[in-house]
Amino acid sequence: MRTLYFDIETAPMVALHFRQWDSNAMKVIQEPYVMMVGYRLDTWKRAKTIQIWDHAEPVHPTLGFDPKDSKSVIERFYEIIDKYDVQRVCGHNSDKFDVKWMQGQGLVFGLGPMKPMLQTDTVKLARKHGNHRSNSLADLCEIHGIAPKHKPSHDLWHRCMTGEKAAEKEMEKYCKQDVNSQHDLHKIYAPLDNLVVSSTGCPNCGSPDLTKNGKHQSRAGIFYQQYRCNSCGKYSRARRKTPDIPSYYR
Ligand SMILES: [Zn+2]
Repeated sequence: MRTLYFDIETAPMVALHFRQWDSNAMKVIQEPYVMMVGYRLDTWKRAKTIQIWDHAEPVHPTLGFDPKDSKSVIERFYEIIDKYDVQRVCGHNSDKFDVKWMQGQGLVFGLGPMKPMLQTDTVKLARKHGNHRSNSLADLCEIHGIAPKHKPSHDLWHRCMTGEKAAEKEMEKYCKQDVNSQHDLHKIYAPLDNLVVSSTGCPNCGSPDLTKNGKHQSRAGIFYQQYRCNSCGKYSRARRKTPDIPSYYR
């Protein structure tokens, strides 16, 4: 399955507040927008990025870019999905955040709905299958021994919004690193992902090297041949039911 790992960086909303810790803004001065998208196809060795500053210049000394200019970032992402015929998107907390952002902004800019794709969220996989102390990307990377996550300072976002070149480079590095971490984390949890049916090979990694591993019984009580992948360890089952029912059920 053609999977695209991706992670977005958004510019914060600019709003008026009377006091620093007021959560209720009096007035929104500028909408939040997508500054950068990092992405990597499952067959690639490294991540690439789409950046607002490749297509636009800041228009204001403090506010920086015009949020309308982020349309080019969303358009480019939609083009990439079509170009590589992506069938699944995967990210960390992406069901709640990244996918919705890209969908919502596509509708704002009149690009219509995104192509329907399967969605895999590594935070959901980690929550479901591991009782870890934390499910943040940084902590899961530490727990699983994946390259440590670089923590940017909070002023990085504003420096990027106003077009500071050094900040743009740092954001790019940070975004690519997140995509690569998500990719590595997904590889650990992918054998537990909810893809169970096998036609010609492993539904997770595509390997044809499968070993028969007992029978899988569905909730409806139907038996299928079960396989274990010798490459990634995922269990899957045959598409057709088997007449070969285990002796202890007869
Ligand atoms: Zn496999």
